[in-house]
Amino acid sequence: MNSLYAAMGPTIFEQMSRLAAEKGAVNLGQGYPEDDGPLDIREVAARAIIEGPNQYPPSRGLPELREAAAEHYRMHQGLDLDWRTQVTITSGGTEALAAAMLAFIEPGDEVVLFEPFYDVYLPMVRRAGGVPRVVRLQPPLWAFERETLAAAFSDKTRLVIINTPHNPASSVMSRAELELVAEFCRAHDAICVSDEVWEHVLFDDAQHISMLEVMPERTLKVGSAGKMFSFTGWKVGLACGAPEIIEVFSKAHQYLTFTTAPNLQRAVAYGLTKPRSYFEAMRASFQHGRVRLVSALEGEGFVALPVRGAYFVTIDLAASGIVMSDVDFTKHAIAQGVAVIPYAPFYASPGAPPLIRLCFSKRDETLDRGADALARAKRSAPKF
Ligand code: GLN
Repeated sequence: MNSLYAAMGPTIFEQMSRLAAEKGAVNLGQGYPEDDGPLDIREVAARAIIEGPNQYPPSRGLPELREAAAEHYRMHQGLDLDWRTQVTITSGGTEALAAAMLAFIEPGDEVVLFEPFYDVYLPMVRRAGGVPRVVRLQPPLWAFERETLAAAFSDKTRLVIINTPHNPASSVMSRAELELVAEFCRAHDAICVSDEVWEHVLFDDAQHISMLEVMPERTLKVGSAGKMFSFTGWKVGLACGAPEIIEVFSKAHQYLTFTTAPNLQRAVAYGLTKPRSYFEAMRASFQHGRVRLVSALEGEGFVALPVRGAYFVTIDLAASGIVMSDVDFTKHAIAQGVAVIPYAPFYASPGAPPLIRLCFSKRDETLDRGADALARAKRSAPKF
């Protein structure tokens, strides 16, 4: 068997959700909204199951969804995409990421990653034969310097993976940062996979800028209907980029999943036409959860890092007076009745900072119970 998978455990999200269910703990771990997304979108999906389409859509996705995606990104991000050649629908953002690694990496190619990174990237880079070159971002601002980037790139660099807004760190890349990455990609003839699945989940004055706007000729942008409409289980992803990039990407996609449930595709096409007010209301509801959880935790002496995008807040354990590693505190917290996500799985090597990630797209009562359990965990943490 393949040694990478044989040695691998379940994802941290799966592990923590399983533990939360077993122990009856509040689940602030895996990122998903407690309330499902809009009923009218679900009704379109339900109708499309009864009335069809129920047979294979084209491998690149239903034309109506690809058109809706191009129009959506024109309206929200000013992108100019030809839906016929520049948009492919995938079974979730994760499939798009996996297809991208398989499509763009040749064994021995170097791939630049920013650490912490979403858990999918590293194993998929390795499985595709890529050699990871890691740029470490430093909390609390998670910024990076030109020199660090210069040190990570070489004449073997073929791919760079960025993530904005960022999971788990909740940071958002500035135009200057995107331009810096683009400059290095162009100089080294590298492609950028830009994981933008949190593009609509923004807070305060944070603005999302797509790498596809900054560097249209060598970017694959990944979007996710699960995050846009609070249907994380639907697994409908949007991959956009230059025709030559989408062409090869679509070859990897056709032999991974070939296509994605047509009824869900039809419903997402409908959802993408929603007015700005829908996305504003979604952000306002996540903002409510953010304020509720963060103020409760700050009242208990926890120190939270800034939140700019994605529905997660990071807690700095050391600054909060907790002298435990992220992994030890996570075990301690589950015993006190709350599941959280430690940062360790988002690092390539040991030495992750003592940080944990909490998901706040939950009902008030869940957030309150989670905050109470975290307060108990803090009070009962061993003192040294
Ligand atoms: N994106 C989700 C998170 O960050 C997890 C998705 C999954 O469990 N595969 O929590």
